[in-house]
Amino acid sequence: MLVKRRSQNDRTIINIDHQSIGGDNLTIIAGPCSIESEDQIHHIAQGVAQAGATILRGGAFKPRTSPYDFQGLGKKALQFLGNAARANNLLCISELMDIDDLDLFLDDVHIIQIGSRNMQNFSLLKQLSKIKKPVMLKRGYAATYQEFLMAAEYLLQGGNDQVILCERGIRTFEPHTRNTLDMAAIPVLQELSHLPVIVDPSHATGIRHLVTPMALAAIAAGANGIMVEVHPQPEQSISDANQAISIEDFAKLMQKARKVACAVEREIAQHEIPC
Ligand code: PEP
Ligand code: MN
Repeated sequence: MLVKRRSQNDRTIINIDHQSIGGDNLTIIAGPCSIESEDQIHHIAQGVAQAGATILRGGAFKPRTSPYDFQGLGKKALQFLGNAARANNLLCISELMDIDDLDLFLDDVHIIQIGSRNMQNFSLLKQLSKIKKPVMLKRGYAATYQEFLMAAEYLLQGGNDQVILCERGIRTFEPHTRNTLDMAAIPVLQELSHLPVIVDPSHATGIRHLVTPMALAAIAAGANGIMVEVHPQPEQSISDANQAISIEDFAKLMQKARKVACAVEREIAQHEIPC
């Protein structure tokens, strides 16, 4: 098994431009659920960069439960995302659902996200295993650790060793939260695998005021990073309005995150301005 961690020092570090993900690095990813307009993504990019995020997220192709809901702005949204990231010295990540769209991602997007619903889309994984671009694989909402790691194995087996795991909550009997954040997944996956583990407290809870406490807990538990949904007017988000936090609240989250990181002898990755 290629995903398996073989020794204490066996930890994948993914280098993209001037950033490293994995190992001792603590990476902060933030941005809207969906890219809604060019202005929106630029405004968010500036806000989250100022607060200390180093990777901008934003959905252009959205996996929506209802076919009547907003499906994303598609191709042009990826261009907006790339421009907003570049202007603020950020990397960016966006979800790919259809392999036919891959070309659109190659220029503007640094990390390809595979969503929870596609974790076991094996033909998609096989095709992404042939590319030289990092992939962040989100845990299927009913996937065991073993199933999650085997899905990642498809990427590694085909030759793509730049893989990031993302815990985003699983479906349990508890209806209060959107999902149940499986905190134990962090140390377990890090013990079983050398791949970095990012936690998404937004989809894991689905509730705005639970995002900061869960993000802090994930950092304390040793996550290699967090990914948070941020929107200038959270209640007005076209998608996932209940879980988005404002830019101001994200900045407050970051202040607390620095303290928690310090308490567990970790440090949040900063922008490295190229000389
Ligand atoms: C997302 O991050 O935009 C998303 C749709 O998440 P998930 O696949 O975890 O539901
Ligand atoms: Mn979302």
